[in-house]
Amino acid sequence: MEKISVIVSCYNEEQTIALFYKEIERVRNEDFKNINIDFEYIFVNDGSKDKTLEILKSLAKKDSRVKFISFSRNFGKEAAMLAGLEYASGDYITLMDADLQDPPFLLKTMFDNLKNENYDCIATRRVTRKGEPPIRSFLARVFYKLINKISDIQMVDGARDYRLMTKQVKDAIINLKEYNRYSKGLFSFVGFNTKWIEYENVQRVAGETKWSFWKLFRYALEGITAFSTFPLVLSSIIGIVFCIVSFLLIIFIIVRTTIYGDPTNGWPSLVCIIFFVSGIQLFSLGIIGQYLSKTYLEVKNRPIYIIKETEKDLK
Ligand code: UDP
Ligand code: MG
Repeated sequence: MEKISVIVSCYNEEQTIALFYKEIERVRNEDFKNINIDFEYIFVNDGSKDKTLEILKSLAKKDSRVKFISFSRNFGKEAAMLAGLEYASGDYITLMDADLQDPPFLLKTMFDNLKNENYDCIATRRVTRKGEPPIRSFLARVFYKLINKISDIQMVDGARDYRLMTKQVKDAIINLKEYNRYSKGLFSFVGFNTKWIEYENVQRVAGETKWSFWKLFRYALEGITAFSTFPLVLSSIIGIVFCIVSFLLIIFIIVRTTIYGDPTNGWPSLVCIIFFVSGIQLFSLGIIGQYLSKTYLEVKNRPIYIIKETEKDLK
């Protein structure tokens, strides 16, 4: 029998897991009633500090479909998704959030599309960002405009991590062993026939978001450095422009000095220029540093996550 693996990353989700489980079970029992397919639920506990793990353990004891992976600390959602993908044994794999912001009721539609229309991957995007702080929506929009201009692969505005994919796509993704993971880019990188399904933003059922402004900002930088080298080009361009300007200035000063002599004035402007140019230099060094630090982390080849226990340790 074919099987769907549902991967759910959980970080401090004690308030939502039970609700999520109830909803996905409803989908399995009602929407998939007439389809001969099995389910497995893989919850990845990303180092939660609340009762998440206990709740997962008791679920796993009750229901053999429930599996869990528990990390030794918080490794981030990207690591959690990768661990889930590597653990999944299904023929179809889906990634969902625990807070029901990736509505499980869409799963049947996604499954039908995947089966009947010969797609390899069904992805979802939010067409509205209702209920989100306006500044966050605005910055997200700016980010997508920017990254699509400066990187070779296209990223869809409002794209969620919520997807249903075939085993083949999953294998392609887990073969990308990079440490700095930005999955919206990785999915776009591996290609395959992808259909986008749109839906209205849904609010979190309980608990609160784990993404602070600062975390999102770092994630955005991750996306840029992982999928574009344009900032490096930019600092070279600025360097060249400055060379040309200073060359023209040198000629101007030589000519002026030979005609009018050399009165020593203009040191305030000199200071301004020095400040400006050293600012640009530091900025460029910073850009190079960003890439260098990413390379450093890749070269160290550290594991992306460390598993402390799984449901297999329960018995
Ligand atoms: N999450 C995770 N590790 C983290 C942060 C978040 O596994 O370090 C999970 C979280 O439990 C949730 C999903 O990622 O299932 C999305 O997080 P959240 O709802 O806080 O983000 P938002 O929907 O606000 O972007
Ligand atoms: Mg959420």
